[in-house]
Amino acid sequence: MDEIQKFLAYNGKINITCISTTKLVENARKIHDLSPVVTAALGRCLTMGALMGSNLKGEEDVVTLQIKGNGPIGTITVTSDSKLRTRGYVTNPNVDIPLRKDGKLNVGEAVGKDGFLYVIRDIGLKEPYVGMSKLVTGEIAEDFTNYYFISEQKNTAVALGVLINKNGVKSAGGFIVSAMPDATEDELFILENRMREAKPISQMLDENMSLLEIAKDITGDINIKVLEKKEKPVYECNCSKEKMEKALISIGKEELKKILQEDKKAEIVCNFCNKKYEFSKEELENML
Ligand SMILES: [Zn+2]
Repeated sequence: MDEIQKFLAYNGKINITCISTTKLVENARKIHDLSPVVTAALGRCLTMGALMGSNLKGEEDVVTLQIKGNGPIGTITVTSDSKLRTRGYVTNPNVDIPLRKDGKLNVGEAVGKDGFLYVIRDIGLKEPYVGMSKLVTGEIAEDFTNYYFISEQKNTAVALGVLINKNGVKSAGGFIVSAMPDATEDELFILENRMREAKPISQMLDENMSLLEIAKDITGDINIKVLEKKEKPVYECNCSKEKMEKALISIGKEELKKILQEDKKAEIVCNFCNKKYEFSKEELENML
């Protein structure tokens, strides 16, 4: 079962949030019929989206992540809300490229390291908050670690992992660690060493380690404090006929007239969940 848990280590000087997203990523794989390397790429982004969703405060708040690299995947889009309802899609779901020399899926190549990542937080203000940074490897976790440093001036490390076998997603998850300004050099030194020596997060989850065990392992603090549990992360799309109608209206009167004349109806497919919405001639006329 997917879950998320926040912890405080070293008497509150280190924040850590761990998440498991195996089911969430497997759902995404099935919905979009993703190739293995795209499952890994979108899976890492969905995991990151849910981690960021867990830091949203307001009920209606939404965070959107967008990765635009120069690789064959195209653009990756993910959204999550404060209830950790997470969804996403990519331009090209079927990308198939050779494995890396070490036998791993080549996410960096599929995403492409020349490009940008965007974080858009809609927290009910007039304008959403938009942060951005250049991609560094296209491997996603490194790109978000760099994003926090460049765009939010935070000393934060991100790990994301998706393990895939022939049946689909075997395990997926991630963690995000931030140091408070009062963390000592010694504590940071231990933390850096532990993180460098830790097994990949997807492997720890595959070995059935609990989120608490993982947090202890990464921080090296056996007296780690467990904070409140958040809702469980799920793949869920909140599209509706009303929202699709708005999208249709936003294309403009002329385009709408053209559709009405040529097709006499419209069919819109939701990018996030592939649900189809049909609009009849009468409905289109009403919109006009
Ligand atoms: Zn949908």
